[in-house]
Amino acid sequence: MIALKSEWEIERIRAACELVGRTLAEVARHIAPGVRTRELDAVAEAYIREHGGKPAFKGYQVGGRRFPATLCVSVNEEVVHGIPGDRVLAYGDLVSIDCGVLLEGYYGDSAYTFVVGDTSPENRRLIQVTYEALYRGIEQAVPGHTVGHIGAAIQAHVEANGFQVVRDLVGHGVGRHLHEDPPVPNYGRPGQGPRLMPGMTLAIEPMVNRGTWKVRTRKDGWTIVTADGSPSAHFEHVIVVRNEGAEILTTFAYITQLLAPESLPYGQAAGH
Ligand code: MG
Ligand code: MG
Repeated sequence: MIALKSEWEIERIRAACELVGRTLAEVARHIAPGVRTRELDAVAEAYIREHGGKPAFKGYQVGGRRFPATLCVSVNEEVVHGIPGDRVLAYGDLVSIDCGVLLEGYYGDSAYTFVVGDTSPENRRLIQVTYEALYRGIEQAVPGHTVGHIGAAIQAHVEANGFQVVRDLVGHGVGRHLHEDPPVPNYGRPGQGPRLMPGMTLAIEPMVNRGTWKVRTRKDGWTIVTADGSPSAHFEHVIVVRNEGAEILTTFAYITQLLAPESLPYGQAAGH
C-alpha cells in the first residue's frame, strides 16, 4: 500500500532529509587519501546523534541479518551496502556514501558519490551521467505519470552514455518507514507500475555501472559489487510528488558549498 503524506508529515520528512544532507557534507570534509572508511562512519554517527537523530541503517534488518553501521560506504566496484571498516581510501577512488536518518518518527535517505582527490576521465563521466540520470528521473515524477516513467528516463540517459543501470536494487517510498511501497526501479517503461499521485514521497536512486549491470553479494552478506569488477556510482534524493511536479526534500547544497567547483558533477555548480 502506498501512503500519501500530509503536509505535516512532509515537513517531518524534510527535516530528516535536511539532517541527512548536512551529515553527508560533514562526512565529505573527512574524505581524503589515507582515511579509513570506519572513520567516516564515526563522523556520521556522532553528527546525527548530536542533532537529535538516529542512524537509520544501523541495526536495519534484512533476512535476520543486522547492518552494523551508520553509513553504507561503497568504494569503486562496490555498488551499495558497503560496510565501513579498515579499508583505507586511496587517491582516485570513487566513494559512494549512503546515509539514512530517523528524526522524530520520519526517515530521510540520500546518497552521493565522491572522488578521492581526482580520478580517470571515464570515472568522472560515470559520476556525471549517474548524477544527471537522477535528475532526469526526478523530472518525470509528476501526477499522471507512473513509476515506470522515472525508471525509463534514468535508463535511457544511462544507456545513451554507454553505461548500465543496476536491476537488482531499486528506489522506494519513504516516510514513517525507511523502505515503503512503491519500489522505484531505475529501468522500465512509461506506463508501468503504480500511478504517481500528489503526496507520494519517493527515494529515487540510480546505481550505475561502467560495465555490466550484473551484480553479486560479497561473503559479508551485505556488500553488493559489480559482477565484472567495473566501477559503480550512486546518487539518491527523496522527493515529494506535487501537482506542479516533484519537489526535492533532500539536499546536496551543503556538499556543493564544500567541494571545489571543478570536482562537482556537471551542472551542479549551477545549483541543484
Ligand atoms: Mg539510501
Ligand atoms: Mg534509499
